[in-house]
Amino acid sequence: MAFAPGRTVLYRNIDGPRIASVRPCRVVSDDERGLLLWLARGSAITVEVALDGRGIRDMPFTEWVTLPTKVIETTWQGPGVLKFLPTGADHSVWFFRDDRDRFKNWYVNLEARGLRWDDGTLAGVDVIDYDLDIEVFPDRTWRWKDEDELAERLAVPEHYWVRDEAALWASGRDVVKRIEAGDFPFDGTWTDFEPDPSWEPFASLPAGWDRRAEPRTF
Ligand code: MG
Repeated sequence: MAFAPGRTVLYRNIDGPRIASVRPCRVVSDDERGLLLWLARGSAITVEVALDGRGIRDMPFTEWVTLPTKVIETTWQGPGVLKFLPTGADHSVWFFRDDRDRFKNWYVNLEARGLRWDDGTLAGVDVIDYDLDIEVFPDRTWRWKDEDELAERLAVPEHYWVRDEAALWASGRDVVKRIEAGDFPFDGTWTDFEPDPSWEPFASLPAGWDRRAEPRTF
């Protein structure tokens, strides 16, 4: 299933049975290397919050898993982001930019590889966020991020979607080898990316954004 350039594709984070977040993107390219998406500043997105408005990071995980949640629409406040989903890989690589829209750093989001769907009018790619991330700086130095969050959640295995901690760290270390070697996509590719000027931010989520996610084994 290849997505045509310019097409709207929803990058959705599936949190167990729920849709934790939705980010509407445009397809920059989709080829054997993987899927490259552009999330424009000011786009409508969704986030999952407790009924009192607090998010998963605003409380202990042990509390979060006891609370009913709702999905609210908000706006992507930061600069636009390129998201690259390498084919067959359990991570995506985000290209963060500064307020003048120049490349700032990479961010490796460890996640279950995207499951694509296409309803004809709308398409998407569903991932499961593994919480552990890697921040990568332009000189290819790097650091783990959110190890504490991972550890906190691993302590609640009956509610957590990361099942194999050792495999997660191993897959992160595999990416680190490519970072340190300056291999694609950490070789400068797309750091000068400019989005198509006709791509307006999404004023609202396209209808169908809340389509049921396919069950995953992971
Ligand atoms: Mg993450």
